[in-house]
Amino acid sequence: MFYNEYSKEKLQEELEGLYKEYNKIKESGISLDMSRGKPGPDQLDLSMDMLDVFNSESDLKASNGFDCRNYGVLDGIPEAKKMMADIMECNPENVIIGGNASLNLMYDAISRAYTHGIMGETPWCKLDKVKWLCPVPGYDRHFGITEHFGIEMINIPLKEDGPDMDMIEELVSKDASIKGIWCVPKYENPTGLSYSDEVVKRMAALKPAAKDFRIFWDNAYAIHHLYDEEEKQDTILNIIDECKKAGNEDMVYEFASTSKVTFPGSGIAAIASSVANVDEIKKRMSVQTIGFDKMNQLRHVKYFKNAEGVKKHMAKHAAKLRPKFEAVLKMLDAELDGYGIATWTKPNGGYFISFDVMEGCAKKVVNMCKEAGMVLTGAGAPFPYGIDPKDSNIRIAPSYPSPEELIDASKILIVCTKIAAIEKLLETK
Ligand code: PMP
Repeated sequence: MFYNEYSKEKLQEELEGLYKEYNKIKESGISLDMSRGKPGPDQLDLSMDMLDVFNSESDLKASNGFDCRNYGVLDGIPEAKKMMADIMECNPENVIIGGNASLNLMYDAISRAYTHGIMGETPWCKLDKVKWLCPVPGYDRHFGITEHFGIEMINIPLKEDGPDMDMIEELVSKDASIKGIWCVPKYENPTGLSYSDEVVKRMAALKPAAKDFRIFWDNAYAIHHLYDEEEKQDTILNIIDECKKAGNEDMVYEFASTSKVTFPGSGIAAIASSVANVDEIKKRMSVQTIGFDKMNQLRHVKYFKNAEGVKKHMAKHAAKLRPKFEAVLKMLDAELDGYGIATWTKPNGGYFISFDVMEGCAKKVVNMCKEAGMVLTGAGAPFPYGIDPKDSNIRIAPSYPSPEELIDASKILIVCTKIAAIEKLLETK
């Protein structure tokens, strides 16, 4: 029975029981962190052998004979470009290998547009207004970049199959100050859902008023499935191909990295785009650096051999992550289903579950969890300016705690969600 069908007395009785449970948890002195999507230490252990790929005797030449110990090769060694191109399903000529983080490449792409403009268009710093589309809930660090540059962010609701394309088409066609959109097309952060073919096609066929409009296609979870069975793996259409087909070859920058394949902060990152965009980026990048860490690029390719090797490695990550996601989802299904007070996503991959509580309750739930010893991502964080208009979304990051800890964590979350919902309902009873 839904909580909103309970009588006032029954709700009060239920609340009393829940507070007893809550206080017991609080007194137990539990300490849990579900705030960031970090791989667990057991996942980091999976890549330790990569450190043995080289020693002081190793030949550190790339496939083209280039000595990776030295300066040069701005856009990456050929075998790393091929490996990342295969992961992003494009050609090596479309790829630039960057440094240790894709977020850095995204920041730099906006920074370049801001100071120097894109393909001869006015630098964004010289415009009165620059606006950006932000599918929500989304990745807080994306919104952090656009906020940092003073770009006005516009919320776009996310549906089950991707962002609201009617709204996007309408907005970009009319407003030339809209210069871009953040997209996490596969296993989104935080919903874990993926864009349908129709959404990708419509995105690729946009007719923006701004010539320098760019889709920032952050394919951070391109190969991060939770299941080995193909039917449980999401697939998305290739945006670079679709943009080309739609005559919008230059409209997209795609990003990926091995942060959640090997070591976050010590992986390799890549940007992929049309040859014209790649040429422009390289020209500007050559002022910024002589070249990125080619030894790390070579280390990654020697270890994995190719994209197939990377995908096999990802199955080992999935084996570690799957029981964690399942532990949380099983608890939510068992303890929260049928009360009409929360909904949650059931992703096939990625690092997050998106959890929606009753409107006006998310902050309260997050605070109550914190007081009971569990840190969650701040309520509102997955929204531009940290403001969730409905105060209902909570990002669950199950990757770091152990499955046993996640059972405790879910218990706390469930109790707090119920308390917040009942107190909200009692306001109007
Ligand atoms: N994009 C998304 C959507 C992410 O979730 C993350 C990591 N949480 C990143 C980018 C960061 O990737 P990188 O380490 O390559 O900067």
